[in-house]
Amino acid sequence: MKQVVFIVGLGHSGSTLLSLLLGSHQEAFAVGELIQAADRLRPESTRPFCRICSGPCTFWARPERRESLLRLLGKPPSSRVLASFDSRFGSLRGDVYGRLFDWTKASVLVDSSKSHRWYQRQRLPFWHWRDRRARVLYLVRDGRGVVASALRKYEKNEIDGASSRWRARTLAREKFFSGLPVGIGHKVFYESLTQQPEAELRAICSWLEIDFQPRMLAYWEHEHHPIGGNVGTSLAVTAHQDSTAIEDATESVDRQLTDLDYYSRLGTNITTDQRWMKELSEAQLDTFERVAGGVNRRCCLPPDCT
Ligand SMILES: [Zn+2]
Repeated sequence: MKQVVFIVGLGHSGSTLLSLLLGSHQEAFAVGELIQAADRLRPESTRPFCRICSGPCTFWARPERRESLLRLLGKPPSSRVLASFDSRFGSLRGDVYGRLFDWTKASVLVDSSKSHRWYQRQRLPFWHWRDRRARVLYLVRDGRGVVASALRKYEKNEIDGASSRWRARTLAREKFFSGLPVGIGHKVFYESLTQQPEAELRAICSWLEIDFQPRMLAYWEHEHHPIGGNVGTSLAVTAHQDSTAIEDATESVDRQLTDLDYYSRLGTNITTDQRWMKELSEAQLDTFERVAGGVNRRCCLPPDCT
């Protein structure tokens, strides 16, 4: 049966890596962050659509695909009555995943939009899901790693605010995840995924009832066209195909320069990003613990999680 796997979690938690690993299965396709597609397709947008292709994307550049996506994912109806009807029943919506199954010929689509509200919206109307199923991979990461990434990337962030936001967003996703019917969701710890990727992928494949394929572990060797996502993680794929990609990326994305430096040194190794251990001061760790320590125990693994 066809399946759409929704990765739900927070930014900076490894969703790009997880989607590329799964998208390396011969029958799967990593769609990327479909939630961003409509915005990135607008003529005035300067953000790249496919994270891998440096020139026109060999998969998405076809005008009919872009037009079709814009039509299917564009703004909801302008009339309030129709918009309210649409948000309750979704009956006015086109079948975007049906179209993606046709284009990709895959039987598993991986949507790494991360938002649980996006998942809830995509589940409507119910008749789109009669002959396919939706699954949720709930990806969690030690909150200290997430907060350190946010502080690194956005200078205006402060530890208090970043910790509170992490706590609130995590609580919202936990509530969503615990409300899912049995068997629909599967929780993945980022640290475990990066420390023992094969064991984690085997468990995910078994839960999805697809075979585990060793080729999934070498995700950089395969063709991918994900919409958006983490520049650093995608770099492993791009650099494998084109050795000048790292220089190009470093020049074009100044804000993420330190990150790109980190990722270009990593190459294609799957490693656990634990820069937070060096980057966060004692005072920052104390603040995080005070604000979000209790919630974080459910998102990290021993021995780090004490
Ligand atoms: Zn592409």
